[in-house]
Amino acid sequence: MAPSGSRSMKRGCQRVLYWIPVLFIALIVAWSYYAYVLQLCIESIEDTGEKVVYLLVYHVVFVMFVWAYWQTIFTQAVNPLEEFHLSYSDKELLEREDRGESQQEILRRIARDLPIYTRTNSGAIRFCERCQLLKPDRCHHCSVCDKCILKMDHHCPWVNNCVGFSNYKFFMLFLAYSLLYCLFITATDLRYFIKFWTNGLPDTQAKFHILFLFFSASMFSVSLASLFIYHCWLVCRNRSTLEAVRAPVFRHGTDKSGFSLGISKNFRQVFGDEVKYWPVPIFSSLGDGCSFPTCLVNLDPEQPSSPTGSNPANKAAAEGRQFPSKPLRESQSRLLSSTPSWTEADNAASRDLKGASNLGMSIENEA
Ligand SMILES: [Zn+2]
Ligand SMILES: [Zn+2]
Repeated sequence: MAPSGSRSMKRGCQRVLYWIPVLFIALIVAWSYYAYVLQLCIESIEDTGEKVVYLLVYHVVFVMFVWAYWQTIFTQAVNPLEEFHLSYSDKELLEREDRGESQQEILRRIARDLPIYTRTNSGAIRFCERCQLLKPDRCHHCSVCDKCILKMDHHCPWVNNCVGFSNYKFFMLFLAYSLLYCLFITATDLRYFIKFWTNGLPDTQAKFHILFLFFSASMFSVSLASLFIYHCWLVCRNRSTLEAVRAPVFRHGTDKSGFSLGISKNFRQVFGDEVKYWPVPIFSSLGDGCSFPTCLVNLDPEQPSSPTGSNPANKAAAEGRQFPSKPLRESQSRLLSSTPSWTEADNAASRDLKGASNLGMSIENEA
């Protein structure tokens, strides 16, 4: 077989294998539904009132959980705006130059018109050779998805998708509702779990479902709670998992809190301005995913202190935005201009800023 044929076959096999963790979760959820609804509620609980309340609450949580999980899995990452891709002439120009400084000069010229404020550890423009684009701030190339992911958080095997700008809110809701789902099952199953050990349950197969339901729900609760708390902390700090591991490098140096605008604004950047959309797995994050307001406007002369429409990428986002969201220009202005929760920005100047050269390897070249 031709090498290219075997490579595509390997790729095809890999793609099938990547679905195994999702299938595993789906099977557990399907079994938990059967065990809770049929074996516990319908077969084992005798009190009608208790049965109805449990079933009602369970189904509300179940629907929200499955909906959020579905959205996290099937929301495709949106490509960076066209402005970040190299034009045909720029590609030719770049190919003609030798690697190194002259290439960087070309990239720097293109980056001048883009809202790009982060750099590689060596201070170079972040460029993805694979996708042939200048990486927007917080964007990273995922080697599994084989594309650049806006505000990449991490590649999650449990959803077989990259968690990033387009589905981070869904991922947070998935964690929240799955935790709620497990806690609800643990709490309502507890009484019957105790009955199992005190021989208070009739000798049917339901008792074993009740036993395993309690074990699995409580075990998942612990791991989900730790993950959920960690991501709540990340949202409050406006950091992605990648940025928590390695702080972003700005023109003046690294700053792990460079994108933080204060807890309230950080939260709204992910969940949006409208409270009614916060608990629903519908996209409501602010911005276009390609540029982010930073609290370092005073330190970087290239960063606009009040973002105007002069930025081509922001303009493009406003004209042909791909999300049912507000364009960054509007949300960024509001995030930067309104006064509350601006404390972190005030502290930015006094913050200890480490030099870019102090860092080790970059995460730029994951591909
Ligand atoms: Zn890429
Ligand atoms: Zn990925």
